[in-house]
Amino acid sequence: MRLAFIGLGAMGYPIAGHLAKKYETLIWNRTFEKALAHAKEFGSKPMELADVAQADMLFTCLPTSLEVDEMARRLLPYLRPGTLWVDHTSGEPEMAKKTARMLQEKGVSYLDACLSGGVAGAIQARATVMAGGSAEDFARAKPVMEAFAAKIVHVGPLGSGHAVKAVNNALLAVNLWALSEGMLALVQQGVDARLALEVINASSGRSNVSENLFGQRVLTRQFPNTFALGLLAKDLGICVRVLEAAGTPAPMLKQVREFFEIAKREVGSAEVDHTAVARLLERWSGIEIK
Ligand code: NDP
Repeated sequence: MRLAFIGLGAMGYPIAGHLAKKYETLIWNRTFEKALAHAKEFGSKPMELADVAQADMLFTCLPTSLEVDEMARRLLPYLRPGTLWVDHTSGEPEMAKKTARMLQEKGVSYLDACLSGGVAGAIQARATVMAGGSAEDFARAKPVMEAFAAKIVHVGPLGSGHAVKAVNNALLAVNLWALSEGMLALVQQGVDARLALEVINASSGRSNVSENLFGQRVLTRQFPNTFALGLLAKDLGICVRVLEAAGTPAPMLKQVREFFEIAKREVGSAEVDHTAVARLLERWSGIEIK
């Protein structure tokens, strides 16, 4: 089986690497030097888009559904019936359905198969995949995705992978913002930040943010750039649209989206790591969490 991977960013690069170790993998990236480096590191094959489109299974990991739709339009003349397009972008359910309909006209099927677990999870081949689409397409893609994922779940019809991912990331955002606020107050009152975190991580307020992000990125003052603030803000926008489509009450999740939009403006860059919101709260309060 021949695979193709488009979008060798923070997530795509290691994931395409795992695929290339097991399958013939054609690659394409907008900045082509990255594709050349990838080929050197993993034995993947940099190609033109027309050649990439010939794969049996084609993966994308791009910033938003807009870039995925644009890519689908560019590839459309070259695509073959029977190809399965697996989209690892954290995207928009409604836009994905439109893209899928366009691809269907060429006999190409589509799964929205969002990733979780961060760059570390991708590098360690321990990603989580939440996929929306048909059961048949999911069954076809699952054994291939096992090359880089430890948990792979078919969550429902087209668009539901994106919807679950958006809610998941809204929970990440709530936890990140809330823990930053709480830690600031504790430090201001003389509590040692490391001890506070140690206790929280052994108590009911713990979360992935408290266990795997805050100590490693904020307390160390490293703020490594692995997941851009702008991408998380994008996910929160998707989440709000999912909530509005459902019409269910969601004052908290809608509010956290506002917080992150403010953060993006205040920080002045969407490119910084999402943990920059802790820095912003530090700036507002004049207190450093350390
Ligand atoms: P990056 O910004 O690191 O990479 C984006 C990729 O998309 C790059 O390969 C970039 O090419 C390419 N790209 C951007 N714009 C275009 C375009 N117009 N046409 C073609 N290619 C384009 O993003 P991530 O890898 O961090 O994220 C990718 C997706 O995965 C996002 O939807 C994100 O929300 C999601 N995600 C990210 C996680 C993370 O921890 N980083 C975790 C889980 C999901 P170039 O190299 O030329 O810039």
